Amino acid sequence: MQTWDKYVRKSGLLFVLSGPSGVGKDAVLEELSRIYPGFRRCVTATTRQPRFGEVDGVDYTFMSVDEFRERAELGEFLEYAHVHGNLYGTPKQWVQDQLWKGKDVILKIDVQGGLSVKEQMPSAILVFLVPPSLEELEKRLRGRLTENDEEVSKRLLDARRELDQIPHYEYIVENDTLLQTAEELKAVIIAEHCRIQRQ
Ligand code: ADP
Ligand code: 5GP
Repeated sequence: MQTWDKYVRKSGLLFVLSGPSGVGKDAVLEELSRIYPGFRRCVTATTRQPRFGEVDGVDYTFMSVDEFRERAELGEFLEYAHVHGNLYGTPKQWVQDQLWKGKDVILKIDVQGGLSVKEQMPSAILVFLVPPSLEELEKRLRGRLTENDEEVSKRLLDARRELDQIPHYEYIVENDTLLQTAEELKAVIIAEHCRIQRQ
């Protein structure tokens, strides 16, 4: 036991990764897990329909609106929000369990969710992912081929509102090339672990 041990963080940290739809949050987290596999990514719940190839319990926990509302009333979500016309929510117990076990957790959630998490857990660290440009964002969103034209337009409209919330976040990372972005996210995680713990 060293005298400075009390200043060294031992518990897991909670990170929130937000950014407009199509900016590359999923792709960046996949790259991050390749170069820095120590973190846990939270599988959140949603009432939206699975996209082609999405797996229940891996990409999301897919559920009906009735089940979602029931769980929300039971207080099972750390936060939940309407995003692009569907409900999404973060499972509270799972997040707490991971942090207690000393694991870092990353939530890939929207800005309303991020701010709500920060209110309840001020030690959460908010990271905003931005595209190199709005043109590139639209290109990525359309290139993904998972939404129809109407949905793409809705997401692009929502993107502007989300980008207005950047000042409430603590870190901004530009997703230019995947590897560089994942490296920057890794640097944020490591820096946060080096922060002096104050009792
Ligand atoms: P989000 O999770 O933010 O909605 P995705 O991870 O699904 O976004 O990425 C949207 C699309 O952009 C995908 O087709 C993905 O392969 C592509 N993409 C993500 N990051 C990059 C990047 N750095 N350069 C080029 N394309 C990217
Ligand atoms: P998608 O439908 O493209 O997977 O996700 C749409 C948006 O919902 C993304 O911005 C994503 O970050 C957000 N999201 C996913 N899960 C949650 C959640 O549990 N809570 C909140 N508030 N947003 C979420």
